[in-house]
Amino acid sequence: MNFKAKQFCIDYNIPYWESGNNVSPGWINITCPMCGDKSSHGGINPNGGYYHCWRCGGHALKQIIKTLLNISYFEVEKIVEHETREPDLTFRVKGKLFAIEIETGTLLRKKDQLEKKIKDLNGKYKNRWLIVVSKRELVNKYSSFGLCTQRKWVCEKLEKMAGI
Ligand SMILES: [Zn+2]
Repeated sequence: MNFKAKQFCIDYNIPYWESGNNVSPGWINITCPMCGDKSSHGGINPNGGYYHCWRCGGHALKQIIKTLLNISYFEVEKIVEHETREPDLTFRVKGKLFAIEIETGTLLRKKDQLEKKIKDLNGKYKNRWLIVVSKRELVNKYSSFGLCTQRKWVCEKLEKMAGI
């Protein structure tokens, strides 16, 4: 698994320990989100694929990330696999490439990454890309970055955008 535990903690403002109580050499420890831990019992191993808590035992790392950030598994996959710079969906209409980016709110917490992503989309797809959000209240938040819509309006927006 291509997962950098320390960078992840920095990016998402999660307190972490690299040494001290409970911390094995090379591991990144956090307050375990699974067992009411108040200290530093949860550890992510150096290769980033394995999680173990001294209080409650082993868990899948993806489950830990999901619980820590309160996000869906879909978003966990994007974080873990570092796939956030490619659009979620691309397709061609009349020889032109269009892109759809699906957002559930996580990137709003990572301004740098979001701005980089928008820059990439603008560079590669010009005005032929669309953000689709999972909740209505997110439309306004993402609209300052580009054309944004809810799932139920996707077809309408796409038809307009592609001129079909
Ligand atoms: Zn625990």
